[in-house]
Amino acid sequence: ELELRDLRKTFSARGRPSVDAVRGIDLTLRSGELLGLLGPSGCGKSTTLRMIAGLETVTGGDILVGGSSVISRPAQRRNIGVAFENYALYPPLTVAENLAFGLKARKKADRGDVDRKVKDIAERVDLTAILDARPAGLSSGQKQRVSLARALIREPDVLLLDEPLSHLDAAQRDTTRRELKRIQRDLGHTTILVTHDQEEALSLADRIAVMKDGVIQQLGTPYEIYDSPANVFVADFVGEPA
Ligand code: ATP
Ligand code: MG
Repeated sequence: ELELRDLRKTFSARGRPSVDAVRGIDLTLRSGELLGLLGPSGCGKSTTLRMIAGLETVTGGDILVGGSSVISRPAQRRNIGVAFENYALYPPLTVAENLAFGLKARKKADRGDVDRKVKDIAERVDLTAILDARPAGLSSGQKQRVSLARALIREPDVLLLDEPLSHLDAAQRDTTRRELKRIQRDLGHTTILVTHDQEEALSLADRIAVMKDGVIQQLGTPYEIYDSPANVFVADFVGEPA
């Protein structure tokens, strides 16, 4: 369903040494699979997601969704749902309008259908009470839940989540995590979830990839990763408290 072939990214700016942020990633996600992507700060997790989403150009390699290369398609033609920390909501629009926006942009959906979908997703991620609010008036946790809902409402082929729950309090993170799992199971999105929270990775992921310096160090089930780390780096990384 989602395949990365030797995916690479080098950032070069004049007068500065270039940065090899992603150095050849090969990865195949089965349809409906949730992959947890772990690794230290700066190892290339967000850059990888941004390339898949079409928000960052690719230096080398290929990205296939459902067997077709999407590398030459612009972001809006990839049918990929993203919830990123800095992926802004539209300030002039209310929460409900922000959610509806993605749907309308993609196809001419009828009004009643859009309203129903907005209501349904709002209930799932606990946004019903703030549907008429505007982004500026929301807490960072609320903004995160709106971003998540906006990614989900499009029923994308692929869902990319970069620390989607990091600003939620413990109780809300628990609820949202369970809801995310349920939605993902019900709707069968192929998902990559970047997180620093090992418990989150353990409870949600079918498989986990541990990255370091732009390279995947180990790919396996949570059990394999924690029980038989492939090297000292993985052992140290997953062994330490988050
Ligand atoms: P974190 O856990 O802190 O979010 P990350 O794994 O998401 O880290 P990336 O944001 O993908 O890491 O960054 C990977 C590397 O690429 C880092 O060395 C970073 O400084 C560099 N980098 C990221 N974006 C750019 C950019 N636009 N220009 C230059 N270098 C960049
Ligand atoms: Mg990041």
